[in-house]
Amino acid sequence: MAEVVIALGLMLVWVIAGVALLRLILGQAISYKVTNVGIALVFSLVVFRYLQQIELIPAHPTTLHKTLALASGLAAGLLTLKIRQDIWKRLHLAVIVGGLIFTLLPVVLANTLAPTVYWPSPSDQPPTQQAPKLPAQNTIVLLLDEFSASAAGPVVDQLKDAGLHVTSTSIDPAGKNTINVIPAIWTRSNFDQSVACGPTQLCSASHVLDFAKVRASSANIDIVGFFHRYCSIQGLRSCSFPVPTATDGSGLACSFPGLSMLEFLGCDEKTDIRALSISMRDSMQNSLLEAPFWQKGGILFAHLLVPHPLMGVPMKSLSDEYTDNIANGARLVKLVAQKAKLVFGNDFKIIIFSDHPLRPEIWCAGKQYIEFGCTPDASQISTKVPLIIATPSVETPAHKKIKKNQAVFDLLFK
Ligand SMILES: [Zn+2]
Repeated sequence: MAEVVIALGLMLVWVIAGVALLRLILGQAISYKVTNVGIALVFSLVVFRYLQQIELIPAHPTTLHKTLALASGLAAGLLTLKIRQDIWKRLHLAVIVGGLIFTLLPVVLANTLAPTVYWPSPSDQPPTQQAPKLPAQNTIVLLLDEFSASAAGPVVDQLKDAGLHVTSTSIDPAGKNTINVIPAIWTRSNFDQSVACGPTQLCSASHVLDFAKVRASSANIDIVGFFHRYCSIQGLRSCSFPVPTATDGSGLACSFPGLSMLEFLGCDEKTDIRALSISMRDSMQNSLLEAPFWQKGGILFAHLLVPHPLMGVPMKSLSDEYTDNIANGARLVKLVAQKAKLVFGNDFKIIIFSDHPLRPEIWCAGKQYIEFGCTPDASQISTKVPLIIATPSVETPAHKKIKKNQAVFDLLFK
């Protein structure tokens, strides 16, 4: 939160200094017009980001989307020049007040509406009810992001190679995307319209999940995870969120539609975003292997950026990239299995599942993969996600009761 306040403060200083400078150089009349055009462009950028967040514009916008956004931004800018100065004075106030309400109201609502949620808790009781005491255990729960049930083979093989007893089934995902599924698992409510509505909050219709109002059901839980604000959960033993390396501050500028085409800004999507996503993936895998769990036991939950397609401009077909990423995930799973055997002997359990299967509809909506091919292999397409349970010895098949990924954490109570 402190960063947000500092950023807003800096932005305000910037704007005031910029406007004052403009007035000095261009005179009041012209600087007024320039400011208005600026407001229209910023407003267009905010709308563009908002549409992207509610997924009306894909996360990787096409050139057409970007061109349209730039054109409507410029059109809005030109339109401001046609408005009389006295009307503008009133509009300025309306824009400021409207902007504040637009930004703050959802945060205020989300803060007041979000209930306290206990996690993990068994799916047959409301998540707002305190969970029963968790049995003593050494359990590793890996959420491999975007893992199709039909593509689980290599991961199962690695677990078997490590000498574990493995059961594998297919279960239903609780939504389409990470932003829908995770809150649906945590609250067991529908989050199909999920949007971020505050620094730690997600809202969907009348449902709100505030990660800051989630309480860990046990004091021996470590989390390694990205995308969601897992580290705001109260009462965790430890939490690790990957810190993106190699950010030089050009990110925001480069995200403005059209600007990445201006070469002097150095907005090279190919290296930047891809390198960032690989560094995030690897840093999470390292944190996972260094969590306090390995000394103290308990529960280790990791939401990993694998086999999720790497972001940025691809170097391979979607299918080949996905195969590579599954191999990467399988390698990690083998390391985890070997380490668990070494540390816990015969007393541990590995649970692997996913939030949603591979989403060609997302990755193939843009032009990125066209050069290399974007039709995934039929074996990589599924409507289900895997549920893999690996133990050193044969166990009663508890997984048979689990039909959807909302109920996976039930396994911690058995
Ligand atoms: Zn996901």
